[in-house]
Amino acid sequence: MEFKRIPHPSPTPDAAREAAIADPGFGTVFTDHMVTIDYDEAKGGWQTPVIGPREAIPMDPASSVLHYAQEIFEGMKAYAHADGGLALFRPEANAGRFNDSARRMAMPELPEETFLAAVREAVKTDAKWMPPIEGGSLYIRPFMFASEAFLGVRPAKQYKFVLILVSSGNYFKKGVNPVKIWVSQDYVRAAPGGTGAAKTGGNYAASLVPQAEAIAKGCDQVVFLDAIENKWVEELGGMNLFFVRADGSVITPPLTGTILPGITRDSLIAMLREEGLDVREEPYSIAQWREEAESGELLETLACGTAAVVTPVGTVASPAGEFTIGTGGIGQMAQKMREKLVGIQHGHVEDKHGWVERIG
Ligand SMILES: *Cc1c(COP(=O)(O)O)cnc(C)c1O
Repeated sequence: MEFKRIPHPSPTPDAAREAAIADPGFGTVFTDHMVTIDYDEAKGGWQTPVIGPREAIPMDPASSVLHYAQEIFEGMKAYAHADGGLALFRPEANAGRFNDSARRMAMPELPEETFLAAVREAVKTDAKWMPPIEGGSLYIRPFMFASEAFLGVRPAKQYKFVLILVSSGNYFKKGVNPVKIWVSQDYVRAAPGGTGAAKTGGNYAASLVPQAEAIAKGCDQVVFLDAIENKWVEELGGMNLFFVRADGSVITPPLTGTILPGITRDSLIAMLREEGLDVREEPYSIAQWREEAESGELLETLACGTAAVVTPVGTVASPAGEFTIGTGGIGQMAQKMREKLVGIQHGHVEDKHGWVERIG
């Protein structure tokens, strides 16, 4: 894959970069470069990929993304290994999911090899932005939007693919704490036939009011129920769920089109099976969640995603009252799965599945 390289006229000085990545938090310390690839139907599709300075994107006010929200994104990380090299975790799964999202949003697919080349190129170019701290990573944000200036309603004929990197510290500043979650009553995240399985900004826009409601109720996150019966537990705003039970079974809601198919979810299914647990993709109701938590049949609930890895759900709140899962603390399986997954990603636990790709 040939990239056009535009040299950065004034890269961040070493001292400023080192200060910025010493304690980067999450989502604000951007690196110096970005990848852009334009798509133009009239010019035969995807144009030459460019890696150049990170800068503002000129945009026509009629760009259709600003009006009709044709936009998709991915979220993944590069990890530092002890030998100084870098690694990606299942990047081809992100490339594949990006194209699943593209198809749902009537956008052009980006060849998987191009997506992967953009990821590798950006990470290698800005490798020195990797925070030198425990739990640090380079968070990778590829996205695509409709850039055509056109106010009619139809799929655009011009798009822009962009990839930026964010130096990231531990998602949770004070280590892993169980989260308290609010059961959304008045809002749903996704309905059958909708866009719930696509990683598109609109799903997040729709989740902000219920998320704000959760915060107002003293909770950390919102959990969504299904749109038809308001009964089946689906997922959090950006994390999938697992219910770990005393009989050795683990339930995770099935991918019926309303749930985002998390790569962490898929990895955890494999890892929990390796533990000898009977992992089942089955609907799980809010009533069952409460009953099994109260009876002790439910040992743990895990929330998972790239950003926060594996996080225990401690308490579930709704207008009907609260219930606590286990002791409300960090369960054994949450701890074990989190350590194992982080270990595989950072190269100190054996990667039996070929999930880790070394780059440099
Ligand atoms: C990205 C995302 C997840 C988690 O997916 P991972 O691939 O595990 O990071 C879960 N739910 C939603 C709604 C998401 O957007």
